[in-house]
Amino acid sequence: MAQLPKGHPSYSVVHEFCQSDVLEHWKLCCDRGELLDGLKRHFRVWVPLVFGNSHDSAKEEHLAEKYLFRPMTEFMCGGNPEEVFSQLKNVDTPSQICGHVFKPGEPTYSCRDCANDPTCVFCIDCFQNSSHKQHRYRMNTSGGNGYCDCGDTEAWKVEPFCSLHSSSMEQNDQVNPVDLLPVDLANRASALFLASLQYAIDLLMWKQCVQLPGGLDPEETVPDIHHCMLFNDEVHSYDQVITTLQRAVDCSQREAIDYATIVDREGRSIVKSGTEQECEKAKEIIESKIMNKRNTSRHNSKPLKVLVMHNVVVAHQSFALKLIQWLQNIISKSDGLRRLFCLLSMNAPPKKDLCDAMEIDDVDAPASLMERVLLADTQLWKVVRVKIHQLLMAGALMDQECKKLFAGMFTKHYATLMKEFIQDDHYRSVSVTSISVQIFTVPTLARWLITEYNLLHVILQSFLTACKQKKDKDGRLCFDRNDRSPSFKRASYMLYDIKYALLARPVDPEDWSDALRTNFLNGVVSLLELLRVMQGMDGVTRQTGQHLEFEPEWEGAFNLQLKLEDTLVLFTRWCSMDKVVLIEAYKETLEALYHSYETSKKEKGKCEVAGHTTKSMKYDVSNQPISIHLPLTRFLAALHLHLEKFDLTFHSPELMTKKRLDPVDLLEPPLRAQVMIAQTQAGMWRRNGFALLNQIFFYHNVRCRGEMYDRDILMLQIVASLLNPNDFIVHLLNKFNLLHWAKPEYDIPGGQEDSVRQTVMLAEEFLNLLIILLEERYIPGVGSVTQQDVIKREIVHQLCIMPMAHSELAKGLPVDPNSETGMEDVVNEVAEFKKPSSTGKGKYDLKPEYYKMYCPYFYHYTKAEQSKSEEAQRKRKKQAGESQALPPPVPPPLTSQFAAIVNILHCDVMFHIFKMVLTRTAAQRSRSWSEAQFERILYIIGIALHEQKRAFKEGNTSYDFLTKAMKEDGLLSKLQCLVGNQNLNQDPSRDLLAWSLKQFAEVCTLKSEPVCLETLHSLASCTDQKTETERKRKAEMAAKRRARVMAQISKMQRNFIAENSELFDQTSTELKTVTSDMDLGVMVPPTFPVALGPHRSQANVTGPIQATCILCQEEQEISCSGKAMVLAAFVQRSTVLSQSRGKMLDKKDDYDPLFVPVDLFTGTHVSSCGHVMHHDCWQRYFDNVMNKERRRPLRFRQSFSYDIDKMEYLCPLCEGLSNTVIPIVPSLPSLYPAGNKKEVDLRFDDWLDGIEKTVQNSIKEAQDKESEDDFSLFQPCPISTITRMMAESVAKNFQLLWEYVYDDASGHFSEGMREMLKKFARDVYAFGLSVEPDDESPRVSILAWSTCAFTIQSVEQNLRGEGKSLFGSIPTRQADLIGSLVRFAAVCSQVMNPDMVKQNCVRLLSALIPCDSEKVNKGSPCLLDLDMFHFLTIVTMTLPSLYVDQQHCIVNTLPTGDLNNQHAMQLVVTAHIVQILLTFAWDTEESMDVESDSEGEALLKIYLQLQKTAGLTPEKVPSPYQLLQYVRSAVMPFLRCAAILYFHITGVSPPDELHDHFCTKEYEVLCRYLSLPVNMSELFESVGDITTALIKSWCSSKSLRDRLSANSEKIVRYPIVKNDLVPLPVDYSELINKVSTFTCPKSKDSDDSRAPTMCLVCGQMLCSQSYCCQKDLEGSSVGAATEHAYFCGAGTGVFLRVRDCQILLLAGKTKGCFLAPPYLDNYGETDQGLRRGNPLHLCEERYSHLKKLWFTHAIPETIAHNLEFNSSFTTIEWQNL
Ligand SMILES: [Zn+2]
Ligand SMILES: [Zn+2]
Ligand SMILES: [Zn+2]
Ligand SMILES: [Zn+2]
Ligand SMILES: [Zn+2]
Ligand SMILES: [Zn+2]
Ligand SMILES: [Zn+2]
Repeated sequence: MAQLPKGHPSYSVVHEFCQSDVLEHWKLCCDRGELLDGLKRHFRVWVPLVFGNSHDSAKEEHLAEKYLFRPMTEFMCGGNPEEVFSQLKNVDTPSQICGHVFKPGEPTYSCRDCANDPTCVFCIDCFQNSSHKQHRYRMNTSGGNGYCDCGDTEAWKVEPFCSLHSSSMEQNDQVNPVDLLPVDLANRASALFLASLQYAIDLLMWKQCVQLPGGLDPEETVPDIHHCMLFNDEVHSYDQVITTLQRAVDCSQREAIDYATIVDREGRSIVKSGTEQECEKAKEIIESKIMNKRNTSRHNSKPLKVLVMHNVVVAHQSFALKLIQWLQNIISKSDGLRRLFCLLSMNAPPKKDLCDAMEIDDVDAPASLMERVLLADTQLWKVVRVKIHQLLMAGALMDQECKKLFAGMFTKHYATLMKEFIQDDHYRSVSVTSISVQIFTVPTLARWLITEYNLLHVILQSFLTACKQKKDKDGRLCFDRNDRSPSFKRASYMLYDIKYALLARPVDPEDWSDALRTNFLNGVVSLLELLRVMQGMDGVTRQTGQHLEFEPEWEGAFNLQLKLEDTLVLFTRWCSMDKVVLIEAYKETLEALYHSYETSKKEKGKCEVAGHTTKSMKYDVSNQPISIHLPLTRFLAALHLHLEKFDLTFHSPELMTKKRLDPVDLLEPPLRAQVMIAQTQAGMWRRNGFALLNQIFFYHNVRCRGEMYDRDILMLQIVASLLNPNDFIVHLLNKFNLLHWAKPEYDIPGGQEDSVRQTVMLAEEFLNLLIILLEERYIPGVGSVTQQDVIKREIVHQLCIMPMAHSELAKGLPVDPNSETGMEDVVNEVAEFKKPSSTGKGKYDLKPEYYKMYCPYFYHYTKAEQSKSEEAQRKRKKQAGESQALPPPVPPPLTSQFAAIVNILHCDVMFHIFKMVLTRTAAQRSRSWSEAQFERILYIIGIALHEQKRAFKEGNTSYDFLTKAMKEDGLLSKLQCLVGNQNLNQDPSRDLLAWSLKQFAEVCTLKSEPVCLETLHSLASCTDQKTETERKRKAEMAAKRRARVMAQISKMQRNFIAENSELFDQTSTELKTVTSDMDLGVMVPPTFPVALGPHRSQANVTGPIQATCILCQEEQEISCSGKAMVLAAFVQRSTVLSQSRGKMLDKKDDYDPLFVPVDLFTGTHVSSCGHVMHHDCWQRYFDNVMNKERRRPLRFRQSFSYDIDKMEYLCPLCEGLSNTVIPIVPSLPSLYPAGNKKEVDLRFDDWLDGIEKTVQNSIKEAQDKESEDDFSLFQPCPISTITRMMAESVAKNFQLLWEYVYDDASGHFSEGMREMLKKFARDVYAFGLSVEPDDESPRVSILAWSTCAFTIQSVEQNLRGEGKSLFGSIPTRQADLIGSLVRFAAVCSQVMNPDMVKQNCVRLLSALIPCDSEKVNKGSPCLLDLDMFHFLTIVTMTLPSLYVDQQHCIVNTLPTGDLNNQHAMQLVVTAHIVQILLTFAWDTEESMDVESDSEGEALLKIYLQLQKTAGLTPEKVPSPYQLLQYVRSAVMPFLRCAAILYFHITGVSPPDELHDHFCTKEYEVLCRYLSLPVNMSELFESVGDITTALIKSWCSSKSLRDRLSANSEKIVRYPIVKNDLVPLPVDYSELINKVSTFTCPKSKDSDDSRAPTMCLVCGQMLCSQSYCCQKDLEGSSVGAATEHAYFCGAGTGVFLRVRDCQILLLAGKTKGCFLAPPYLDNYGETDQGLRRGNPLHLCEERYSHLKKLWFTHAIPETIAHNLEFNSSFTTIEWQNL
């Protein structure tokens, strides 16, 4: 609630509150029957005090309980409520029904095997405890509104109980639970329920803003505070409201968002409080602002609703709302109380005087409080509605007795409720009408409502009322594209209601009563009324001449059809259950059809084909209106299917009505539709545009065809079975406009070409239709088939196109009203499920024996599917070496009512057509012949032969195709003549001809008449042979041709590759060594390679390296002095390796990157696609990209995948995301000055002495100049000062170590190279710290070194995580990148200010060198917090510069791996082992003392010594063996990183063992390569005094001891664990369940969150994509996920959107993408958006892939790639997620 203005007087009067007095008073009132008055007297005082004082919600709740609810509860109970309630609970019968009310987003489960309909669901608890867990189930998320059906015997076919709600006791329906209540309690409860409900309803419906209902006016004058109350509607957008509010009530954006959120969630919010004038003013502004906006938005007809309300009114309303909740709570305490409350609310009439205040018709005058609430629904604001619906669900719907009562009441007012809902502007979910699903889906209730309340009629008539405004002048429905009013859409919800009511059909004959029959038929009549206004909708006329100017509207009609689909199926099902009902419905439908025909003309004309004459209707499809909306005709066809079951036929006397149509008239509408579609195929309707094509598409589409196309074909088949076959064909020819084509003389040349082509295509379509009518019998009732046969055939045909995944296959199959395809029952019979290789989808493959079911003319194929399947089948047969013919399969037998259809096959007209087409085939010239016609004719003949076989077998002599065909000069001889005919040059048609002749032969043998049997055989075999040799010859020729073409192609390809080599040969874009004879000379000696120290092996120096620029294609030698070459690279800040998730780099400008903390909470990572360019080529390319993008206005920017403001660009070759380039430096050994340096001999201890002295003296000097800043506090003193302090022998050698070579010839860096070195350093600095570039900052060089270390560590961890070898498995690209990074870091000192390098070196060393405590820089961190690999890298890179004399500008200061480096290495390793030993955490209990080990013993001694020095006393002592194993494993990551680093510095090839995946001696090998003692204890024993003292000083330092104390922050221990994304549960529903209890962390009333999103990096759940959780981030408002990614992943994030079941990747504030989740169903498929609802399980491989994406820093790259290729992603505002 909004805050009251400051300083307003709150209610200061102190009221005495004495609960016993109050209760006494109420008791008196109650006895007098005036409890309401008594309550009001109490409320008028206390309600304003509690709810009118702007208390915070907790306090308000407390006060409300104390002064209001507790007294009421105690009054009702007449004693201690807790005791009373528990007594009441005891007499309750344990509830059978779970009734758990779902919150939005909660998971629901439906059993596909056992649920009566898909709306029957379990809650998760019930489901987990039910046997359905083992069935085929579907999971979903609830939209709120609904409850668990567990225990409802009507909801489930079997097992309605879970083990929690099992019916342990007989439910005794006879006992009224009210009778079990104590009488006095029942009396008080009745009075209290009535009074409080009365009060609550009065107040919530109260329309006045200042006055209160009588009896509630406050006793004393109250402060005159008003509130400006803003109400919700679903018309204005969030943004509109927010901007308006900001201006109107002068609040911040955040406040405005909060108000808007409350308005959206609760339906209203106070947006301003103050005097009446102030509020009125605010109201005016809001209204006017919104009005002004009206033009810009789509259909705002009304302004936002704003009221100025008095504080006391608002207070009472707040209380009334809480009272509703209180009632819900009280009635849930006992069955008796619930029943009592429900009966009272539904029976007690409301007070007379209140009725008058309502604006409701007399007819609907509410007879009870409940009815009053129902009817007032749309007048209430959102949260009130929701609370009342919850009260309803917890009350009336939980009690079977009351539910029935309520259902009756609901149905009685159904029409009014729907009318109000249609006019309302709130979503369906907050309308009381949405309760219909809870009532109508209960089968017994629905049947009772139909019988008693004429439910079907009521619903359909209400819908028809809503249809009235949509009718055109002919009384047909007509939708208008420009009508945007949502009212019709809202009315369509009624179609769901009618479906619910029909879902359970009466199965037993006893279920039918006369009343049910009568009222069901009333429903049918209403349905027919609806179908009649749909019949002929959206008629189209062929457009000739001009194209249509406007695409006509067509979607409205199809939407209606779609929504009606299930209802039509269900009505038919009901009709099919009862003979009386079927007869009446059939007659009604015939009459309705008759009436719908009256309007159309019936003119008939004579038609003649081959001497057969009939009268046919004149109606030219090509110029008269045609509609494909024929629901009446189709409904009749659907009913017709069931006639046979009851021994009825079309001509049965029971079905006779006066007004009925002839079969010919029934044929007309569906035939016209078929002809129009055929004409469209022939290109005749081209000018009618896309609207027509869309209609035809949906007409055939799997979603609609069941009640459209399929029914039309059925109607044609019905008529075919009723008419004379000759007449039937002539009618068809006439409508197709093919009468002239059917005349032999048509073929005489001449005439208009175009029309001939059309005629040919129409003829093909006509034959196609004939095939369909003859062959499509897979409908129970048409053919003798079962429903399963039907599905099988659909599946077979889908899989004949190609093998399919489960969801793909399911998508192609029709669904029943329960949304089931029935596929699972049969699919395994016809197909084999091939499990996917690893992560792909599994696919269904058709079993070979089912290929014979394939019909190329299958009527559910689209044209594309038809040709695709045909191609696939031919290919399959060809590979198997079979004949290419695709003959008709044997069709199933027809049922007796359809049996007459086959007569078409041997009627005269059909034979005329056969012979005519065959004659034209044989003719030398024919203008109207086509191979397609010929193939179809053969196909029909094939069907005829199948039927002939069947007739012979059944002894049916009336069907005689064979005799007619064998007549002289008949069909057969014509076919024989065609063998070898030149016109047939396609294999398939020749093979089909051969097949047909073979069939003839077979049929002849059946008839056992020896007529020309011989010739037939010889002919058949002859054609067979002929075709066989022919095929062979052709195949050979084809193979030759193919070979020629292939040769040509590959030649072209070679040329192309030669020209564009880098496109094909990826390795050629990588660096390659120029092979020369030199190489052979410098072979690496076969000794064990050592990278460090005086005995290091020779570098594996090869010749100069060449690289090809991908932009100009020129080759370039890599050198320092030549043209610089660069690699495209991407630099990003990373928290991937962080051991302190959530720790932030907050003070970026003060952050000291020199001492990298061991938790690696932030780092800078570099990646590269490995593509090489000249630096100037790249610069030109990059400038070009920038300019091009900059010239575009912001909103027209083409590219969303890269952000030019962040310097991002795409690699010109691979389009990899990049933001900088790395200069390629040649190998370091090639840069060493010529002339070998003398190797020096210096003990480690002596070296350390010199270093310590240097550091100490450098700081000493610094102390003198305190004004200097931190970085320059360290001024290294010259080497001469140091050597003077050393023993003479040592001093000389120490100096030799730093003998610089001043060489003018080497170390020359070209300008381009310098520039690129600086650029990369600058970019790493700016991107790595997210700061402005600053070349002068001493931090620039540090970042350059540490990004090298960080990238190596990340690579090492990744290899370790995958169990891969250190050198054997790094891709060349990554190796190149690391090499470049290391060399860059090494030469960096050459281009930086040498003073800075020196300072950094001393400062770094100071962290390990003890100095006098007061002199030590306070900034220097504790040893335990240092990351030693970063330390090693930086010290390696800087040490050579330590004593550089500034006067010489060209000095070679490259690290070489010499003794200096070796000692530095030893120092760092020693420190690292101290870290390891001090942080050793003892966790394994069992001691595995295998053998006593001298090395282990020594280490143990050191361990104990160090611990003691550090002041620690270990509780338990590890065994030497364990300690040794531990230390080795802990130091390993460091050694591995060091090996990578030194390999690239020195060029000494690592030993072969490091290429081995399962190297068992890795530790030993690494030590030797790095010239470290294999026995680590040697680093501590007899190493000299200085070293020993140093180690001691580390352990005894104060900062370290503090750090080790118990209350310090978490210490990182070794070996460092590789980070991973959070573990996910195996079962996805666990996640859904988890988020259902997740509430938005921001909203006060712990509201639900709409898009709960889980960060997979840290596991935190966020409230994403919601205004409530938007935050300000760097000056703009962002969603919770973006904000979280900023903190958790340095701007990069990986999330799981739980309700949508998809992965969300984010990078920066503007970019993101969605990926498929790592969850798969049993078919290996994902389910983004949870649309299918199959159970989902975690796929470890997919998740590992995602983990890898994250760990290898590939997320920005992945996003860029997805944005580039998925245009829908570019429209999403990722920052709002
Ligand atoms: Zn449940
Ligand atoms: Zn249950
Ligand atoms: Zn089940
Ligand atoms: Zn170039
Ligand atoms: Zn690239
Ligand atoms: Zn996180
Ligand atoms: Zn939120």
